[in-house]
Amino acid sequence: MKRVLVIGGGAAGLMSAISASEAGASVTVLEAGEQAGKKVLATGNGKCNFTNRNMAEECFRSKNPEKARQILSRFGAEETIVFFRELGIAVRDRNGYLYPRSEQAASVRAALISRAEELGVRFLYNQKVKELCLGKKGIQAVTANGRHLTDAAILATGGKAAPKTGSDGSGLMMAEALGHLVIPPVPALVQLTASGFPFSKVSGVRAQARVTIKTGREVLAGDTGEVQLTDYGLSGIPVFQVSRFAAEALADRRDVEAALDFFPEMTKEELALEYRLRRERHPGWNSASFLNGLLPDKLAAALLSGAGISKKDTWEEIPDKKLQRLADESKELTVKITGTKGFDAAQVTAGGVALDEIDEKTCGSRILPGLYFAGEILDVDGICGGYNLQWAWTTGYLAGRAAAGEMEIHQ
Ligand SMILES: Cc1cc2nc3c(=O)[nH]c(=O)nc-3n(C[C@H](O)[C@H](O)[C@H](O)COP(=O)(O)OP(=O)(O)OC[C@H]3O[C@@H](n4cnc5c(N)ncnc54)[C@H](O)[C@@H]3O)c2cc1C
Repeated sequence: MKRVLVIGGGAAGLMSAISASEAGASVTVLEAGEQAGKKVLATGNGKCNFTNRNMAEECFRSKNPEKARQILSRFGAEETIVFFRELGIAVRDRNGYLYPRSEQAASVRAALISRAEELGVRFLYNQKVKELCLGKKGIQAVTANGRHLTDAAILATGGKAAPKTGSDGSGLMMAEALGHLVIPPVPALVQLTASGFPFSKVSGVRAQARVTIKTGREVLAGDTGEVQLTDYGLSGIPVFQVSRFAAEALADRRDVEAALDFFPEMTKEELALEYRLRRERHPGWNSASFLNGLLPDKLAAALLSGAGISKKDTWEEIPDKKLQRLADESKELTVKITGTKGFDAAQVTAGGVALDEIDEKTCGSRILPGLYFAGEILDVDGICGGYNLQWAWTTGYLAGRAAAGEMEIHQ
């Protein structure tokens, strides 16, 4: 019977262990922490958005998107739904975003662990792997307590995001030491810190907006939705979705800006006209109320002040130039992105083990036979919506089956 060692007991590690065991291997999971699946408990605000019915290519980001696509085509959302149904997890579908019917992430984790235990998977906790090396009799995983010899090892140690859940980047260092190229990891699905706007005055405001991330004239990414303005800068789903592009550009020491459009439904010209017509409607009203009903109060006050509009003026006293400036800033408020809230706050890691040296059918290493990768350790990050867990299920399934000897690596 083939021995398979899974290093890391997160979503990808648990799926790898089940998959390898179902394919007939004798499986041991070495987990650095005291429990498996800790991060799964935190997913989807404790509800676990475990996949999505829309599996469009642009939902996944990688330096090698074609390889990511090939890997994902082998075990997608439908296979994931069937897999979890078999484990007793029914689906709650929220516009294509899939959750367990219980809406409890704990039920997903419990089902995975129960299935692994039923198959006879051995879990060893508090076993942080420090090194992987190739010996005469197979691969050796070195921990503080000793060495574990195995026929195949699956590295499923996650990236660097949310290190409280155990993912401290040690797997990336091991992969690098074995000769794998690691795309420098940066935080993704994370809040952005910003300057150039009185953020402390608008803290707590939520507004519909389009966020565009730019470096110089180059547009890196954009997304529309509910943006949250905070005392440090920007948060909310659309900010999360574009954050990895800002983080990458900042890591390259480029200047990064975000342009916020608070009226994405109209052009700059249409908004300028709307403002002019508005001014005529109630000439005697106080300018402080000019954006009343259009934008949240605190944001309106900051934009009016930014356009130089005096609180003492009436609507009719707002000069054309200032009204135009207000329209411009309402459509394209540009702030400087100074950083991210870091890996502690990030939901996922962008970057990781490059896919170029990974076999698309098996997630096996083309450098070290017998070594496989699964989950966030690889250079693929998904947008919000169940895509990162789908990546963990897909790669865990493929790596597990292959490590057990069911599939061959194509060198
Ligand atoms: C707050 C939050 C919410 C999220 N919500 C969602 C969501 O709703 N939907 C979604 O798709 N994605 C979500 N994600 C992302 C998703 O959870 C991760 O991408 C996914 O869980 C990664 O799984 P993984 O197994 O690759 O890594 P991890 O879950 O990080 O697991 C890695 C495991 O390896 C162990 N380990 C690390 N180093 C070693 C070592 N050297 N030796 C032994 N063990 C080691 C760690 O202790 C850990 O248990 C969320 C993430 C966070 C932080």
